[in-house]
Amino acid sequence: MNSFAKDAFWAPHVADWILAYQTYQASGGSPFAVSPHDFGASITAQQYSLYDKRGGSGVLRRMRRKGGLKSCPVCGSPVTGSLDHYLPRDIYPEFAIMRANLVPACQHCNSGVKGTTVHGGDPRRFIHPYYDQWAAQAIWFIQIMTPYQAATFKPRPMPNLTVTQNDIVSFHLENVLGSQFHLSMATHWSSLPGQLKIRDPALTSESLKRQIDLELAVALHSTGQNGWQAALLRGIRGDAGAIEYLRREADATELPPMPPML
Ligand SMILES: [Zn+2]
Repeated sequence: MNSFAKDAFWAPHVADWILAYQTYQASGGSPFAVSPHDFGASITAQQYSLYDKRGGSGVLRRMRRKGGLKSCPVCGSPVTGSLDHYLPRDIYPEFAIMRANLVPACQHCNSGVKGTTVHGGDPRRFIHPYYDQWAAQAIWFIQIMTPYQAATFKPRPMPNLTVTQNDIVSFHLENVLGSQFHLSMATHWSSLPGQLKIRDPALTSESLKRQIDLELAVALHSTGQNGWQAALLRGIRGDAGAIEYLRREADATELPPMPPML
């Protein structure tokens, strides 16, 4: 911001701009606390395009390629590698290059799925991966909607959240998960019986539950607490009907012969 203060074009607006950043930081980017500031058309246009001008810069490139992420911090998909503006720059161009407003995300989350939706009425808003520390715990699971043969997948907040957290998570899930999520769940669900049988050809309900627990432990390790995989397995583990269905399907699955060991 110091370099902007020395520039005659920006100088008259720097104080307001700093104030906007401070309000953002104090409220954790809450759209209920941060109102878009009217900087006038030409400043607004320049603020908006700052991100594009700096897209290849070291800082933004490093943020985009941030390693160590187990899944998209916004939607839980296994893909990462993009950056999303938490408060969209169409509405809040003043935060176009604010680091706290730039969250690592998958391409889907950054490609406008949130559009210009900022909130759904207090307290319904998106989860902020930097400020909402409580969202690091398991916050959702996937309910398998019957009939199991043609299941559909309903994202649900975990039952142990506070009322406000529950509202935030519900709004978030309703707005970030797209068709790729539903396709991915359907593919995984239909391949599960075969996978289970390969690992244990004589499944019982008990051994199946142990396998799901093991799969969940692997998912937590590899794709994180709130990745799609972990949310699906949590949903299955809490659903006796789903467990029984998977056991019967696994029973009926014909596996191809194992390839000979070399
Ligand atoms: Zn995503």
